[in-house]
Amino acid sequence: MKIAVLTLGCKTNLAESDYMKQLFLKRGHDLVKLKDSPDICVINTCTVTKKSDYQCRQIIRRALKTGARVYVTGCYSQISEEEIKRISPEIRIVRNDEKDYIINVIDDNTESKTSSKVRIDRARPFVKIQEGCNFRCSYCVIHRARGRSVSRQRDEIISEINLLEEAGYDEVVLTGTHIGLYGYDISGRPGLSELIEDILQNTKRIRIRLSSLEIHEIDDRLYQLLSEKRIRPHLHIPIQSADDRILSLMKRPYNLNMLQSKLKVLYDIKRDINLGTDIIVGFPTEGDSEFYNTYSFLKENRINYIHIFPYSDRPGTDASKMSEKVPEPVKRQRYDILKELDQSKRRGYRESQIGCAVEVVMERMAENGMIKGKSENYLDVMFEAKEFQKGKTVKVKILKQSGGVLVGSTY
Ligand code: SF4
Repeated sequence: MKIAVLTLGCKTNLAESDYMKQLFLKRGHDLVKLKDSPDICVINTCTVTKKSDYQCRQIIRRALKTGARVYVTGCYSQISEEEIKRISPEIRIVRNDEKDYIINVIDDNTESKTSSKVRIDRARPFVKIQEGCNFRCSYCVIHRARGRSVSRQRDEIISEINLLEEAGYDEVVLTGTHIGLYGYDISGRPGLSELIEDILQNTKRIRIRLSSLEIHEIDDRLYQLLSEKRIRPHLHIPIQSADDRILSLMKRPYNLNMLQSKLKVLYDIKRDINLGTDIIVGFPTEGDSEFYNTYSFLKENRINYIHIFPYSDRPGTDASKMSEKVPEPVKRQRYDILKELDQSKRRGYRESQIGCAVEVVMERMAENGMIKGKSENYLDVMFEAKEFQKGKTVKVKILKQSGGVLVGSTY
């Protein structure tokens, strides 16, 4: 059968879609795009914002127009099944905990047709280590869509990474809904640091990148591990706001002092680390002074890029029941102000890389015939090389920045 897999949202969703794709390939099915008149469409949805719900509905309608059998899975289907069924009663819903077995839902012929070789069309594969969350941030529905934190077994993770290393990949991205909760549900509570140490000891050369990590879950062991050559010098730390009153209304488990002191230790230990963050603008009751507290905190700190999310009510959250919602035009204005800061920070950080030598993983051929890759400190780099090998690492000397990316030459 021809199967199209469409994914919205986070790296965990992308990792799960990669896994589903492998299952389909192993059963001898073909992976196609929506335009290639698929027999089956699998849509792995996201519900982190109102906008992502809207994008999911759009893709579902496009999939239905192809005449394919449509299966919808992921967080939006977990939270808003009725809303999806109103689009068409023909849609089949597959719950998040059924994703790994979706092949049996779609194809009742259980015989595996092809080899079990790893075939992931991604230069830096995502490795899911856990899913779910035990926290209850007041604006978030993900903990309801994904349930409590469930960790994968250490051996399973290490054997998957060894398979990827043998298959020639140079970098993996450890991902999950809340990776800092890794091991909380395993006896002896081996934490994320312990898992990373185990991976380093049981693999040879593969580089490890961490996806989003909460500031309060960076412990002393993890600080030390960040100095390891095989751990990528890049962290994405979602702080959401830098105003104590808003942080407490968000039910975030830290305040400004803790944030500041943890970041200081991080900078002292790993001077060249690239830090990025997520910020929600327009959280209920956020006034100009609270917004400027966040703005000036970001301006003063060496956070080099900002993902900005205009606040939107999520079904059934505490924040959605709060009064004093921030008007859309004010949210828009704050979004634009932070976007400008984000652009200047990205430019400044790229500029600071000129003259540096970095490891770059080859990702794809660019239109201009150059190769585009991702540097160890998470920057897009363009360069020329004799041969394009997806997923392989080359050493690049950064010469300049142009059009929002770095340009360099291999050596
Ligand atoms: S930590 Fe908070 S924002 Fe993140 S998934 Fe858990 S509840 Fe949602």
